[in-house]
Amino acid sequence: MGQITEVFPEREIMKMKQAYEKTLENPPQGAIFRARTNDAVITAYKSGKVLFQGANPEAEMNKWSSNKLPFKPDAKKASRAKPHSPYDPPASLFNSSHIGSDESGTGDYFGPITTCAVYVKREQIDLLKDMGIQDSKAITDKTINKLSRQLVELHIPYSLMVLNNEKYNDLQRKGWSQGKMKAMLHQAVIGRLLEKIGDAPYEGILVDQFCVPSVYKKHIASEGMSLADKTYFMTKAEHHSIAVAAGSVIARASFVKEMDRLSMMAGMDLMKGASQKVDKIAAEIIRSKGEAALEKIAKVHFANTKKARKYL
Ligand code: MN
Repeated sequence: MGQITEVFPEREIMKMKQAYEKTLENPPQGAIFRARTNDAVITAYKSGKVLFQGANPEAEMNKWSSNKLPFKPDAKKASRAKPHSPYDPPASLFNSSHIGSDESGTGDYFGPITTCAVYVKREQIDLLKDMGIQDSKAITDKTINKLSRQLVELHIPYSLMVLNNEKYNDLQRKGWSQGKMKAMLHQAVIGRLLEKIGDAPYEGILVDQFCVPSVYKKHIASEGMSLADKTYFMTKAEHHSIAVAAGSVIARASFVKEMDRLSMMAGMDLMKGASQKVDKIAAEIIRSKGEAALEKIAKVHFANTKKARKYL
């Protein structure tokens, strides 16, 4: 554990906030934002002071500071050789019957969040690998559809949920963070899938990790839920678990389908992501249909809404 502080101009702090958009947490009092990455927790204060603390704070600080610090090789090694957590999957999991869960659409301004849990039996693992099931981010939209259909045709048990934009925006205004929504979605699809598979054996349940397990547990506990037995967490789990990869494929295919549907509804090709082009499309929608129209197609709390207004 180490910590570094440096003072940055406000402009730079707003740039940081944008860059860390996907890893933001509730900021403490007096802070503009707080973000958590694998290397450090970054807290930016209204005074301009930014605090980097964690296993490898230099890695984050160097992205922003002109006053580059050398990496401490042993600090880096120490962060890699992290102590064993009860939520780390056992190595045997990936070659056994197991459940994997992943979501899609969280970084996209337009469109829902889709989440899918898949149950893969040990004897199906090689087949799915041969089919080309892998991390959905490595596959084109066209192939995603084909692979998703093939999975469904194989009668691989899965559970898929779509959190539409209206519901997303309601929950967000109720004070739910996106992290809480994701945790609750994973819980919901895993619960449904467990019901579906009855007493079929499985070695464990692997969630593609988007926050530390203690935070995930806090999110679900706030809604009276707890983790199912043998639930594990791992970052980039889709690279290790064919069940998580299959979940990522079905979730992505569903997201792509929803985006096509919403594009039809909006009469405009809604782009994925959250780029400046997305701001311009949002501005076009506000201009033609009014800002209320975004409620049904966008995650309105994203900075894109504000930026879109500047084009009007
Ligand atoms: Mn994921």
